[in-house]
Amino acid sequence: MLSPAVAGSIRSDVDGDVGFGHPHSRSTVARVGGLLLLAGGALTLVLAALDAPGYDGGATTLVAVVAVLAAVVGGLCAALPSVVPTAVLSLLPVCSAGLCCLPVYLAGSPPPGTELILVWAVLFAGYFLPVRAAWLNVGVIVLGYGATVLGRQGAAGLTVTLCLGSTSVVSLLIVSSLRVRLSALVTASRQEARTDGLTGLLNRRAFDEISAHEMARCQRSGLSLALLLIDVDHFKRLNDSWGHLAGDAALRQVADVLRTQTRDSDVLARFGGEEFAILLPSCVVDDAVRRAEHIRSLVERATLASPAPLTVSIGAATSPPSARTVVDLVAAADAALYSAKDAGRNTVTVLAGVSRPERP
Ligand code: GH3
Ligand code: MG
Ligand code: MG
Repeated sequence: MLSPAVAGSIRSDVDGDVGFGHPHSRSTVARVGGLLLLAGGALTLVLAALDAPGYDGGATTLVAVVAVLAAVVGGLCAALPSVVPTAVLSLLPVCSAGLCCLPVYLAGSPPPGTELILVWAVLFAGYFLPVRAAWLNVGVIVLGYGATVLGRQGAAGLTVTLCLGSTSVVSLLIVSSLRVRLSALVTASRQEARTDGLTGLLNRRAFDEISAHEMARCQRSGLSLALLLIDVDHFKRLNDSWGHLAGDAALRQVADVLRTQTRDSDVLARFGGEEFAILLPSCVVDDAVRRAEHIRSLVERATLASPAPLTVSIGAATSPPSARTVVDLVAAADAALYSAKDAGRNTVTVLAGVSRPERP
């Protein structure tokens, strides 16, 4: 029952992912890409110093300047990942590959070993960038490097171009399919970690996470936030009389009734054993009590004909006035729930000072 807006805000806060896809956060992409560019710049510099066939003095200086520039940009990306624009991140592989093209363009062939930088660039693009950006980068790298080699070496450069092109495409296919599988696994395990296995509702961990966000959001915009804590009455008795499997089925049945009563903006969760919670953003106390009373009577009616009829007690609280933090809100709703139990069960209670509608 998690609204898309809530789900999105949680996800981006949790892992900082802004479009580079699972399982990598944007800062990881910036750090790794930056380090690759830094290493590419350093390697180009060392290789050019060790072995610069065909360079005249000016070309060596140009390669050195470009290599240092690349190393500095890479270092900045790695050190300050949060300020790197997304467009720059998407172009890091092409920038690295440029380090390989320049010596070929200047001298006809790169110092031995420089082509390794192309392999780094392709692997990085396949594993860290979104699929379309990865293919775009690899296409530009293969075409750019191929054109440079063919332009400088003529037909002799064809072998290099074909080997490079085919190796890049195969590497990209393998790496990106691994990445897709990994993404699916990460998504599934995240989903599982937030879901209650018996009812399919959000679990307590997800509820705690989302309620903190909702509380902050409602306080920022001056809206009321209501919480209903719903506890099945005499559930132990049901378990003892009918067995735990029947108890499980009863919990699923209550969850189904609650599902029908929640809107997209509400947050419905299994709070504990036979307790459920519904967070109602922008809901004032009278509306919260009205909705709780409706839920109470629906559960009662839904199970009236079954051999083990169920009722629920509901404690309601709102912020403001009852609470300013989620912990206070839960404590207030819990206190209200206790007084609903004390009042004989199958009833809705809010903390003192707030009106309670009469049961129909
Ligand atoms: P009250 O009206 O005061 O709430 O009484 P109660 O019997 O409902 O409450 P109590 O806390 O005494 O018992 C709750 C029971 O819920 C005990 C526990 O075994 C059972 N329970 C908790 N989780 C599950 C579950 O997933 N499946 C089943 N079948 N039972 C569960
Ligand atoms: Mg209980
Ligand atoms: Mg109970």
